Amino acid sequence: MYTIKFICEKLNGKPLMSNDLSSKISELVYDSRKVNNPDESLFFALKATRDGHDFIPDAYAKGIRNFVISNPVAFLGDKKDVNVIQVHNVLQFMQELVTYHREQFHYPIIGITGSNGKSIVKAWLFQLLIPEKKVYQSPKSYNSQLGVALSLWNLGPQYDLALIEAGISEPGEMDALQKMIQPNIGVFTNIGVAHSQNFETKQQKLTEKLKLFKDVEVLVAGSEYLSKDLIDPKIKLVSWGKSDTDQIQLIQEETFNQVSKLKIKIGELICICQVPFTDRASIENVMSCIAVMYFLGYDAETIVERIQALKPLEMRLQLKKGVNHCSIIDDSYSNDLASLKISLEFLHQQNQHSQKSLILSEMEGLMESDKLQQKLKDLLNNSQLQKFIWVGQDFEWLKDLGINSIQQFSNTEEFLSHLTELNFHDESILIKGARKFQFERIVQRLALRSHGTVLEINLNAITNNLMVYRSLIPRNVKLMAMVKAFSYGSGSFEVANLLQFSKVDYLTVAFADEGVELRTAGITLPIMVLSPDRDTFQSLVQHNLEPEVYSMDFLEEFIDFLKEQNIKDFKIHLKLDTGMHRLGLFPSEIEAVIERLRNQDQVRVQSFFTHLVASGDPKQDEFTAYQISTYQEAAAKLEAGLGYKFIQHVANTSAIVRWPQAHLDMVRLGIGLYGVDMDKNLPNLEQVSSLKTTVTQIKELPAGETVGYDRKGVLHRDSKIATVKIGYADGYSRRFGNSVGKMQINGNLASTVGNICMDMCMLDVTGQDVQVGDEVLVFPNLMQASQDIGTIPYELLVNISSRVKRVYYYE
Ligand SMILES: *Cc1c(COP(=O)(O)O)cnc(C)c1O
Repeated sequence: MYTIKFICEKLNGKPLMSNDLSSKISELVYDSRKVNNPDESLFFALKATRDGHDFIPDAYAKGIRNFVISNPVAFLGDKKDVNVIQVHNVLQFMQELVTYHREQFHYPIIGITGSNGKSIVKAWLFQLLIPEKKVYQSPKSYNSQLGVALSLWNLGPQYDLALIEAGISEPGEMDALQKMIQPNIGVFTNIGVAHSQNFETKQQKLTEKLKLFKDVEVLVAGSEYLSKDLIDPKIKLVSWGKSDTDQIQLIQEETFNQVSKLKIKIGELICICQVPFTDRASIENVMSCIAVMYFLGYDAETIVERIQALKPLEMRLQLKKGVNHCSIIDDSYSNDLASLKISLEFLHQQNQHSQKSLILSEMEGLMESDKLQQKLKDLLNNSQLQKFIWVGQDFEWLKDLGINSIQQFSNTEEFLSHLTELNFHDESILIKGARKFQFERIVQRLALRSHGTVLEINLNAITNNLMVYRSLIPRNVKLMAMVKAFSYGSGSFEVANLLQFSKVDYLTVAFADEGVELRTAGITLPIMVLSPDRDTFQSLVQHNLEPEVYSMDFLEEFIDFLKEQNIKDFKIHLKLDTGMHRLGLFPSEIEAVIERLRNQDQVRVQSFFTHLVASGDPKQDEFTAYQISTYQEAAAKLEAGLGYKFIQHVANTSAIVRWPQAHLDMVRLGIGLYGVDMDKNLPNLEQVSSLKTTVTQIKELPAGETVGYDRKGVLHRDSKIATVKIGYADGYSRRFGNSVGKMQINGNLASTVGNICMDMCMLDVTGQDVQVGDEVLVFPNLMQASQDIGTIPYELLVNISSRVKRVYYYE
């Protein structure tokens, strides 16, 4: 552990203010919401979309007393109990500290980069090497400038090998990562099209990625992706591929029933290896792993044995609906302290149940290391769990934990046999286990089954998209997130909890009952209701939901209601109709509204807003400008008439991008949050939801046969037809029938054949390698799909039926 004094001396940082320079630092904190051990934390005021300096008071309130800043912070001015280091660049200072830390260890560090497969190769190598090595792996996909720094900070003397993932999105980033990681062994997974928008050419991207391997002794790579002449001749290359000059050569590949039988030359030996994957990406990842093991000196027999035991498991954390109204957080793929910490943070974001439980298995290396045990204990004690179930031996050292209910089972089998008595209900359960404990069996019992078709929702993408739009608005402009219509089809409290954690300012729903559901799930953010019904006044008041007021009549009725209940100053949102002609008061009614509002004290105007009808359409810019100026005139009148200020807002997603002058006090972010780029100019948006189904049956049919109802699908050639489990009852419109709809299977597009049925439809997969059970992406391109049937992405998203299970992912 380093002291503040030591850190300053080593890195030439100047203590700007000091209290106790002998304070010890064990945690690097960059987010004031994520504080575990404040006494030993050093807070870095990073400048990202949000400026970390703004969160120093919050970090201080949570007990942190050590800070690294780049700008003066008035709040710290009169504090006597802090250590403050002022530097030119906070991130760089963190990276220098981490570099120093990394240099204290002399075991091999494997640096992994490439366009795809980094996290999988890392996680697999961990599984493959763990039987005899003490391996550290960077958590989740922590591979950015910040992520790598945080990963390396966890290196310790207890390990004898580390796996660190490095990812870049812009030119110039790899140098900094290389300096920190200083890998001895390099793994280059592949080069693809991901993130290419920031690079001029594929060559430029490749050159940038290869900078990671500047000083490695050995580099593992596919010969197809990397030719010898691109790397320094003093680096030893272990290549894999199909050529006989590759040390690891894939000689032959056969696939059947989702299993691939690979004939591989490992060094001089030819081996047969069966793996439960058929897709190209997985096979390539397998080749990378074999090559690393080969270089590390494993014999072919051990390599084959371990590779065959790999499973195609989900490595991302998933949130699913569980039995007895539970929420299941499934992170059963691996178990180590760093990833446990992330999962516990996620558990606490989800407020739908007050009861939070953890089912945890033993982790690698825990029994041998007192230090690790202490860290785990601290983490558990700080995590406000009500129930803790430990699966593993040697329980003594956990007995004095400050958790009410603690139970122990020596293995997964024993736990499962007591499942009924444990009576899980109405709680959020985090399930986290090391591979060998096979916690997927617990998940199978506790999570509700999905029937072939699921909507996968990437929660990280929502956070990312929120950041993208936040970066477009000034810091003092508030952000309202639209979560109406089940968050545009993506789910209710799961998304809202994340938005609450991400500190948006307001949420908006369409109807009162959507708001009630959010309140019941622990959402405390202010909520606006767009179309409140008169018969829901009681629940508005009871759950503190703020209605949109769109007419004089509505205003009268609401005031009457509040008067009866003796309620004062209830917040309302006045809606002005500037051209949408849906709901709203006309500008000509403003005088009357002012008059009415001045003569009562039941309601108070919290905000005043209008909705732009075509903010994304350049052809309508004149009309949009007219709407904005009409609004502003009315707002000025209202403010003068009421004598107090209220929040002014007009901008929806497209206006955030195209109308900066319309940001006013707050913006209302809708479709963009869910990753749909209506304006096609935000390359960093990420797709949030993927609708996936599976192939149920495959048929070979001769030309002349017809497929589906009413014989509409006429086959003009001998065809291979796949039946998939999605139909119009799931929200896959009948308009997609007869070749209009295109789905993606194993990377290839396949068109629909015949009419769409209620629960199924058929695809033409003639000439394609498709098998029963294969995964099918229903909307490979949402924008294109919506255009194909003459609608907009909004409609496709919200039409996905509620019977389609939502599964949430978080990294
Ligand atoms: C739905 C809605 C929005 C969001 O619109 P997007 O185009 O999805 O950003 C904003 N304001 C109001 C009043 C809405 O109903």
